[in-house]
Amino acid sequence: MRLVWFRNDLRCHGHTPLTQALAGGDAVTALHILCPDQWDAHGVAPARRWFVLHSLLELGESLAARGVDLHVLDGGDFDGSVTALEHFVAEQGVTEVFCNREYPLNELNRDRAVARRLEAQGVRIHGFDDGVLVPPRALHTGKGTPYTVFTAYKKRWDVWMDDLQPEAVPAPDWPGGQGRFVGRDRVERALETLSVPDSVTALWHPGEDAARGQLKDFVEQHLGDYKARRDFPAEPGTSGLSAALSAGTLAPLDAYLAARPALQDAKAREGAATWIGELAWRDFYRQIMHRFPSLATGAPFRPETALLQWSDNEEHFQAWCEGRTGYPLVDAAMRQLVQTGWMHNRLRMLTAMFLTKHLFIDWRKGERFFMAHLVDGDFAANNGGWQWSASTGTDAAPYFRVFSPVRQSHRFDPQGRFIARYVPELATADDKTIHEPWKQPLMTPDYPTTIVAHQGVKQRVESAFRAARDAWNQQNGDAS
Ligand SMILES: Cc1cc2nc3c(=O)[nH]c(=O)nc-3n(C[C@H](O)[C@H](O)[C@H](O)COP(=O)(O)OP(=O)(O)OC[C@H]3O[C@@H](n4cnc5c(N)ncnc54)[C@H](O)[C@@H]3O)c2cc1C
Repeated sequence: MRLVWFRNDLRCHGHTPLTQALAGGDAVTALHILCPDQWDAHGVAPARRWFVLHSLLELGESLAARGVDLHVLDGGDFDGSVTALEHFVAEQGVTEVFCNREYPLNELNRDRAVARRLEAQGVRIHGFDDGVLVPPRALHTGKGTPYTVFTAYKKRWDVWMDDLQPEAVPAPDWPGGQGRFVGRDRVERALETLSVPDSVTALWHPGEDAARGQLKDFVEQHLGDYKARRDFPAEPGTSGLSAALSAGTLAPLDAYLAARPALQDAKAREGAATWIGELAWRDFYRQIMHRFPSLATGAPFRPETALLQWSDNEEHFQAWCEGRTGYPLVDAAMRQLVQTGWMHNRLRMLTAMFLTKHLFIDWRKGERFFMAHLVDGDFAANNGGWQWSASTGTDAAPYFRVFSPVRQSHRFDPQGRFIARYVPELATADDKTIHEPWKQPLMTPDYPTTIVAHQGVKQRVESAFRAARDAWNQQNGDAS
């Protein structure tokens, strides 16, 4: 018996383990192991859990309709999932396991334990890399080290993709007939324990059918304009596919292949190339997470930044979380996150920089808060984005770069349409006031005053980073 173990790859299309397992006519069964305690430990948002569990329901139906059984077990946490898998394999007489690799530390440790225990019983494990376009150990610099700067990585990434000219994963050779969905009730019970607001469930569409439809619409309607429109949060300029890519209801290769033809179209080329570049960013952060496992333990990529003396101002942190900083675009963004489970990329950078530069609060607090709300919460991308914004990471935004919330607001939400959508207190403010309400306090009486001034932030950040670097040099015996 062959087993396909589904993890964050809840789809039938573009799934090499499934296609390979079904090739050759052996009996095949499928498994997913719920790990609610691991979700708790990783601080995964109810929105993401809801998205994953509904996607799992759809997967179970799709597999069953094509003649493959899906079993859903409850492992508790990753350790429990190893034991659950071991029992399942023994009970069902499984001789080969097919799955996609996962790269963060806890997942790697789980898979190492699985390999040790199953291989000791003579079970063969076949791992694949459908979760990325380029596997995390494929590319390295001339010195044999991992890339830590995106532009250099991307050059090699492009060469790899051009050389490979990947094709879609062939459709599985389905056995036909009706399969069983064993443990559906477990998924339903897990869904019942969640409290997810309607403002989230109305917006997101779990499952692979929805993801494929959304990809098609995006490529047909928005891909060509992506470069020009992607930075404006009031516009539907980006794909909104991050939740699907994160839960694996969409394969990154299928996303890439859908966009690739537009590279030959003079009008759409720029948009397509820029969007494909975002898929490369996704790979980049996965390879960073894989090659620098200490990141998964909360360490900053730049060791000297571990010595930064962050502020512990809880009132400031709460104001940021609740969208009450007095900076309209920051507040609109934070309210978007809490209400919808998603935030536009430009605003993720802005709010993360605001927390870590203006308020000088530890990026790990922001990283956790994002994870606790994002429908697309993805450890590697979230950690990478936070460390980039805080200037503690790879490719770091230089620490002297501090976004001005007012300039960003004028540039990327010029008429204040996005702000008006999420900050009702400012909905009737004019085009100028909506960016700087403190200039017209009588017209915006319900909106909070700014909790920190923009002026002086850059200098404070510079001196904090200098102090951390000096302390680091001293600790490490380097006086330079
Ligand atoms: C502080 C911070 C936290 C972030 N946290 C997450 C997260 O938890 N999960 C997540 O998927 N993305 C995260 N991102 C990256 C990015 O903001 C989102 O992927 C993007 O906003 C999702 O919207 P979209 O699907 O419309 O993206 P599109 O613009 O349509 O991009 C297509 C896909 O490329 C990938 N992508 C785009 N930008 C990035 C990026 N900078 N890094 C890595 N992958 C990228 C995503 O999978 C995305 O769906 C974070 C960025 C920052 C600055």
